[in-house]
Amino acid sequence: DASWSPHWRGVLSMSHWTEASGKTQDTLEGLHLSAELTDQQKEFQQLARKFAREEMIPVAAAYDRSGEYPFPIIKKAWELGLINGHIPQEYGGMGLSIFDSCLITEELAYACTGMQTAMEANSLGQMPVIIAGNDAQKKKYLGRMTEEPLMCAYCVTEPGAGSDVANIKTRAVRVGDDYVVNGQKMWITNGGKANWYFLLARTNPDPKCPAGKAFTGFIVDADTPGIQVGRKEMNMGQRCSDTRGITFEDVRIPKENVLITEGAGFKIAMGAFDNTRPPVAAGATGLAQRALDEATNYALERKTFGKAIAEHQAVSFILAEMAMKVELARMAYQRSAWEVDQGRRNTYYASIAKAFAGDIANQVATDAVQVFGGNGFNSEYPVEKLMRDAKIYQIYEGTAQIQRLIISREHFGKYKK
Ligand SMILES: Cc1cc2nc3c(=O)[nH]c(=O)nc-3n(C[C@H](O)[C@H](O)[C@H](O)COP(=O)(O)OP(=O)(O)OC[C@H]3O[C@@H](n4cnc5c(N)ncnc54)[C@H](O)[C@@H]3O)c2cc1C
Repeated sequence: DASWSPHWRGVLSMSHWTEASGKTQDTLEGLHLSAELTDQQKEFQQLARKFAREEMIPVAAAYDRSGEYPFPIIKKAWELGLINGHIPQEYGGMGLSIFDSCLITEELAYACTGMQTAMEANSLGQMPVIIAGNDAQKKKYLGRMTEEPLMCAYCVTEPGAGSDVANIKTRAVRVGDDYVVNGQKMWITNGGKANWYFLLARTNPDPKCPAGKAFTGFIVDADTPGIQVGRKEMNMGQRCSDTRGITFEDVRIPKENVLITEGAGFKIAMGAFDNTRPPVAAGATGLAQRALDEATNYALERKTFGKAIAEHQAVSFILAEMAMKVELARMAYQRSAWEVDQGRRNTYYASIAKAFAGDIANQVATDAVQVFGGNGFNSEYPVEKLMRDAKIYQIYEGTAQIQRLIISREHFGKYKK
């Protein structure tokens, strides 16, 4: 299938390099690059592709117009095992690798990134528990998500602090065996639908305390008294995804729901991103692939000056540029997913993939609108939705600027003596 590019296996063998460079095979040992997905990966991909095309695409425009939460779609995806795939097998999940989850994510995002973000927010909410939860916490909170189609959410951002996470003000104070939480969160995906939240709150009031020790990560049941869920925000795109502010007023959380220990929260909250940025990049890539497919099909049909617009070189070059970007974004997310699946620190690759795929999703969706001409600007055609939906990929899970801060920091780190 031409839309699928190499799967980095890291196991090796580029024999043509050996020939071209005249080096012996020995010198290249360990370098292998395989262009094949495994049979199981192809199966997941096909299942997700079929579901996306048959179940999601036909209803995507209606959900975009109504802003209604796509629970019937989420439920079907859950039944097919297309969400929560990375929950470990010992807690009832499938234990998929990040790479495998990304393949599914790309396919679902191709159909509608609003629905896909609602599903992906589960991964983001679950990831702190997967990486830092103890056995009892995983059994209780991940286990129930494999038994029922439940949602969860990641509650970190506040009205006054998004990029600057260390500046969040929500406070948790230890009182007996509980923590009492007060504060306000903002822009929480699945905020009104979640069964439980991952919550980051400040536990050390000393402003001089380093971020790595000042915050604590909690699991909070959504029905705990004192939690008030705000109105659903009306956003530019991904409109069926549920985004809300959440207020915590004297919310009591038992100490059993602390992840690792008091003070460990900041590292847990940030560490989750190494696992969740590759799928976000995969989502942006799926959107970009859709824009490319829509624009290409349109350009082959639409005629001006006696020929298909695809035959005007100016248009064909737009499409060629779009194709280049989609292919490279896919390779970037696959590389970043593969790195973390090897157990290696992938922060650099995850930020490159997220920043690049987020940027090119916007460029490619805008180009698709251009190829459609006046029709591109109209909601009867699919590409204006893609352009609106694309923008959030440069904002959530770390803005385009924050990714560049991370990439430059990681880059300079390699040069320091
Ligand atoms: C639809 C949606 C869903 C979301 N879902 C969630 C969720 O589920 N959970 C959650 O916790 N959060 C969520 N967020 C929040 C999101 O992660 C933040 O909006 C994002 O991190 C940016 O924070 P901010 O909005 O406070 O912008 P700011 O941090 O105020 O940034 C404003 C601008 O300044 C730039 N900027 C800031 N600092 C720097 C710097 N040091 N150098 C250069 N540029 C800088 C930013 O790139 C941006 O362009 C969501 C947001 C939206 C809109």
